[in-house]
Amino acid sequence: WKRLTEGLSRTSSTIGAGITGIFTKRKLDAQTLEELEDVLVQADLGVAAAMRITENIGEGRFDKEIAPEEVKRILAEEVEKALAPVAKPLTIDTAHKPFVILMVGVNGAGKTTTIGKLASKFAADGKSVMLAAGDTFRAAAIEQLKIWGERTGAPVLAREQGADAAGLAYDALNQARTDGHDVLLMDTAGRLQNKTALMAELEKIIRVMRKIDESAPHAVLLVLDATVGQNALSQVEIFGKAAGVTGLVMTKLDGTARGGILVALADRFGLPVHYIGVGEGVDDLEPFAARDFAQAIAG
Ligand code: GDP
Repeated sequence: WKRLTEGLSRTSSTIGAGITGIFTKRKLDAQTLEELEDVLVQADLGVAAAMRITENIGEGRFDKEIAPEEVKRILAEEVEKALAPVAKPLTIDTAHKPFVILMVGVNGAGKTTTIGKLASKFAADGKSVMLAAGDTFRAAAIEQLKIWGERTGAPVLAREQGADAAGLAYDALNQARTDGHDVLLMDTAGRLQNKTALMAELEKIIRVMRKIDESAPHAVLLVLDATVGQNALSQVEIFGKAAGVTGLVMTKLDGTARGGILVALADRFGLPVHYIGVGEGVDDLEPFAARDFAQAIAG
C-alpha cells in the first residue's frame, strides 16, 4: 500500500490539491463541477469519463456545501466503479507448459524491465521461467535482458543483434518445452518508426510459435508508459491490431500526475489491466487492484 500510494503521489497530490482548491468553502454547483471536470481531464481520465464522474458526483448534492474530503471519497468510489471491470489478475494456466507470454510495446515503455519484474515474481511463486531476448534490434535490450536473467536466475535465450526474431521465438519455445519451463517470457522490438515492419515481425513471431503450440502465445501483454498520456490510446489500437493484445501493464505511474489514463483506457477498450509499475526496482510492480488504485489517486 505504501509503495502504491508513494508511487501514485504525483497524481493524487494534483487531484487532491485541485479538489481542495475548488471545494473549500464553496457550494457544489455547475461552476465547481466544471472546475472538477477540468482537474480530472488534466489527470488524463479522458473527457467522457471526467464528464460522467462529475455528473455522478453532483447528483443529489447540488447547491450544498461539500467538504473536499467528501468529494475525494465519492471520486474514489466512481474511479473504482470505472476500473473494477478491467482489474483482472494475470493467471498462468498450468495446462500450458510453457505458458507463453509475449511482451509488446514501444521502445522505452518498460518492456524489458517489466519482464525482469515478472520473472522475479513468478520465480518467487516457485515457477521456472525462461526469457527470450526477442528485441533483436537493439543490442542494449539484449544485454539488459541478460542482466535480468542473471538477477532472477532465469535462463535467457539470446542471439546477436539483428538476428531474426521469429526464428529466435521458435527456438525459445522449443527449448522451453524441452527443458520443462513453466513460463516463457518473450521480449519483442518496439520501433514504431517502422510500423509496418514491426507489425509484420510480431505477426511472424506469433505464426511460428503456433507451429509448435497452436494456442501460443497464451498472453500478449502490452506495456504502456503512463507518462505518454492520451497517446497510450493509439498504442493500444496499433498493437491490438498486430498482436491481439490480451492485457495491459501500465508502467511509470510514479513519474506522472496523469495516472487517470487507466480510466480512459478502461472506458475505451475494456482490456484487462494486470499490473502497474511504480518504480524501477524489481519489486516495483503491483498487481492492479481497482479499489486500492482508486483510493490512492483520489487525493
Ligand atoms: P523497453 O524499451 O520497453 O524495454 O523499456 P525498458 O525496460 O528498457 O525501460 C525504459 C526505462 O524506463 C528504464 O530506465 C527503466 O528503468 C524505466 N522504467 C520501467 N518501468 C518503470 C516504472 O514503473 N517506473 C519508473 N520510474 N521507471 C520505469
